[in-house]
Amino acid sequence: MDEKCGVVGVSLADREAARPLYYSLYALQHRGQESAGIVTHDGFQQHSHVEMGLVGDAFDEADLAGLAGSVGIGHVRYPTAGSVDKDCAQPFTVSFKSGSLGLSHNGNLVNTEAVRDELAELGHAFTSDGDTEVIAHDLARNLLESDLVRAVKRTVERIHGSYSLTITHDDTVLGLRDPQGNRPLCIGELDSGYILASESVAIDTLGGEVIRDVRPGELVVLHPDGEGYDTYQLVETDRTANCFFEYVYFARPDSIIDDKLVYDVRRELGRRLYEESGIDSDVVLPVPDSGRAFASGYAAAAEDVEFAEGLMKNRYVGRTFIMPTQDKREQAVRLKLNPIKNTIEGKSVTLIDDSIVRGTTSNQLIELLRDAGAEEIHMRIGAPPIVAPCYMGIDMASRDELIAADRDVEDIREEIGADSLSYLSIDAIAETLGTDRRDLCLGCVTGAYPYDIDGETTDREIVPSEVGGPGVADD
Ligand code: AMP
Repeated sequence: MDEKCGVVGVSLADREAARPLYYSLYALQHRGQESAGIVTHDGFQQHSHVEMGLVGDAFDEADLAGLAGSVGIGHVRYPTAGSVDKDCAQPFTVSFKSGSLGLSHNGNLVNTEAVRDELAELGHAFTSDGDTEVIAHDLARNLLESDLVRAVKRTVERIHGSYSLTITHDDTVLGLRDPQGNRPLCIGELDSGYILASESVAIDTLGGEVIRDVRPGELVVLHPDGEGYDTYQLVETDRTANCFFEYVYFARPDSIIDDKLVYDVRRELGRRLYEESGIDSDVVLPVPDSGRAFASGYAAAAEDVEFAEGLMKNRYVGRTFIMPTQDKREQAVRLKLNPIKNTIEGKSVTLIDDSIVRGTTSNQLIELLRDAGAEEIHMRIGAPPIVAPCYMGIDMASRDELIAADRDVEDIREEIGADSLSYLSIDAIAETLGTDRRDLCLGCVTGAYPYDIDGETTDREIVPSEVGGPGVADD
């Protein structure tokens, strides 16, 4: 089951954790709208409330009041595969001999089945087909034999794939980022404690200070009662596999990921897009909201071109991808966006978006712009063509749904009905992020993955070399 989700964890001094967790989930709502949940621990027992739907609908006052304790974790979920029901909603909880565990997971394991089979042989019973439950059971098992840090280290050595996790083990909150740092996770300080979150906007929302990103392969242990934290570098890899799509589309522009403000990255990608394939036109229009920062960077680089809003967004319609069928998705585009005729009529228009996945959005928008009287429509995209699916937690559909999987740019241009079409190069992405290409996960734009995935090409071997952090000894 792959999931692109949001996770958070807090440990506070003399304050209930439920409300700060609830607010921080609001800040992470863009990472998942399918379900929301919070697990807290009051020093004696664990409390959990998990519900389908948006954060605002999933909790009421009584629910928050029932979540006692000054430590806890939260989760918003966006399922991209697997069953869409409450059994898969998170945080996942399990009680076992040496205590209780709560887990919030963002990412996707690539060896779930192998680990599940092994644990099933040992007598573990599973209630879902999800990989989070597999992590929970593996960790629970290791905790019976080892101390906390060593147990997590063993689990890290067993599971492969992408994961940013926040975990409660009784009243201790843990944060763990996978050895390739595929999904983001950061740590911050609050007035009365510490927070771990998928994105820094959750920390901002609570009036806290971002301390830093959790390092790939690093475990952060928040002390109960918000008194501090310890970090342990459990494994180290010589290459990371950061997801560039977090910067392009998924993360909020006001988030800082791995020291880079997402908004600045998007503006710079827009500038590069102009450098690589700028074209004269009367007006530059963003696709709201995903293309906005790109379009502002593009327009700033272009001289004598008007930057305008030509498409108005109905903010009360959710993301198009929430709609389960292609039919409904097409309807959703028209529900979501309406053209402002005066900025479009009789003009040559450059339309800028972050990405084309299935091609539905671009196709519909170009039709809308033509109906509104645009003379020429030049589409510029702030990412390379998406040619292959994402297995690491971002919804990228399957190859037969991806418009670029088996078409070249000219075919796509024709299919979406644009007068011209250009994408950004992979090099521009790597250069803008200041990263070597080999430290990025580029699976969706190259078809070669930094992981071993059945039926797919691997772009390298990943063998975590063990290094002991403080308090970590090898078994
Ligand atoms: P499509 O209509 O399938 O080509 O999707 C492209 C549009 O959806 C663009 O406007 C993107 O901003 C947005 N988008 C890209 N990736 C995703 C995703 N994984 N989930 C939801 N929306 C996305």
